[in-house]
Amino acid sequence: MGKQIQVVAGELLVPDKPIIPFIAGDGIGPEIWVAAKTVFDAAVKKAYAGKKEVEWLPLLAGQAAFDKTKQWLPTETLDALKKYLVGIKGPLTTPIGKGHRSINVTLRQELDLFACFRPVKYYPGTPSPVKEPEKVNLAIFRENTEDIYAGIDFAAQSAGAKELLSLLDKYGEAKKVRFPETTAYAIKPVSSEGSKRLVQAAITYALEHNLKTVTLVHKGNIMKKTEGGFKNWGYEKAEEFGDAVFTWNQYEKIKEKQGKTVADAALNKAQEEKRVIVNDVITDNFFQQALLHPENYSVIATMNLNGDYISDALAAQVGGIGIAPGANINYQSKQAIFEATHGTAPQFAGQNKLNPTSMILSGAMMFDYIGWNEVAQLIEQAIAKAIATHHVTMDFAQVIPQATELSTSAFGDYVATLI
Ligand code: NAD
Repeated sequence: MGKQIQVVAGELLVPDKPIIPFIAGDGIGPEIWVAAKTVFDAAVKKAYAGKKEVEWLPLLAGQAAFDKTKQWLPTETLDALKKYLVGIKGPLTTPIGKGHRSINVTLRQELDLFACFRPVKYYPGTPSPVKEPEKVNLAIFRENTEDIYAGIDFAAQSAGAKELLSLLDKYGEAKKVRFPETTAYAIKPVSSEGSKRLVQAAITYALEHNLKTVTLVHKGNIMKKTEGGFKNWGYEKAEEFGDAVFTWNQYEKIKEKQGKTVADAALNKAQEEKRVIVNDVITDNFFQQALLHPENYSVIATMNLNGDYISDALAAQVGGIGIAPGANINYQSKQAIFEATHGTAPQFAGQNKLNPTSMILSGAMMFDYIGWNEVAQLIEQAIAKAIATHHVTMDFAQVIPQATELSTSAFGDYVATLI
């Protein structure tokens, strides 16, 4: 009955009965998947009364795949994800041992899912370590395929490390290595293409959602060519958007030529015209600002490692990894995988205790992405209601006095009744 989602003229064409692959995952994955699917199906039914429906296609990856097929990421799984374009996954065990790459990193690279998109916002009632968590409401776009995550590493004293040192010597840079005999190296590839396509996605999102700013977060003061390159390429890309944006780069140029008063006037005018203001901030300062004045930020565009730290730190302010959703998207091919952002929590597997909200909200993002916005809204509203009335799983119940503690499956069932 189900049909493939396709790309036609650069846009997703979604049939009424799309086939959507899912990977339940390892550890607590199968439990949170069942709870999430209950919510998804209830929301689709409510929104479309049977006119639209998802055909869920199970795929194997991780430990579950290895146990059955001796492959951590079977070729059939990768092929099906490519074919059906949009999928959703639970957490996967990272194989331990020499030569094994994280399956998540492999998926992102194999499918060229260049943007890791994580919206971070507060649902009233969620336990938070900060005083005003409601001030946090931002979308993080983390570059997903470059930076030190490319995995080009040379162990200390390896042939690669020795050759690299002689190459550095040839370029007069070897003296900068403090202990040449015992140094390991990691290469940090950062390209203009990689940076620009990520910044393009962030600015497009800001424009589509009428958001005020896009902030490039980088450590360009230290790593001038890579992180500084990201910033410069980001501004170049931003300026291609013409009158839709006003950049801090443009502000500085006006200031230099015509003085601060004229530059301030140009900025005010741009704000009045509701252009997206593209600015930048150094990463360490961003961490401070994100705690002190999170309300000053709406969209963040950043590189792989910075983005890893930033998304977890921001998620912690609004309730932590049990509820933070995420997506890995290639905005050019439209290939996308939505995912629970936490791991497999193996010590809780099979106990039906942990929080399926990360998976549920990732599903809401997925429905938004395929244009089923009604479904996304129903899911989000139901989650918000459950949390606001303190119907929660163990992780939240432990820190909310007088909460009604529900199991993973009971939470899914309860949220479905709120739809
Ligand atoms: P983890 O996220 O699995 O668990 C850390 C702790 O976070 C848990 O003990 C639990 O207290 C809490 N937690 C996690 N999920 C929760 C949920 N849904 N609700 C409430 N609390 C939750 O991290 P870990 O223990 O470092 O990793 C375990 C395994 O998961 C490893 O194999 C790791 O490689 C893998 N992992 C996978 C992904 C992924 O697939 N996206 C991400 C991170 C880790």
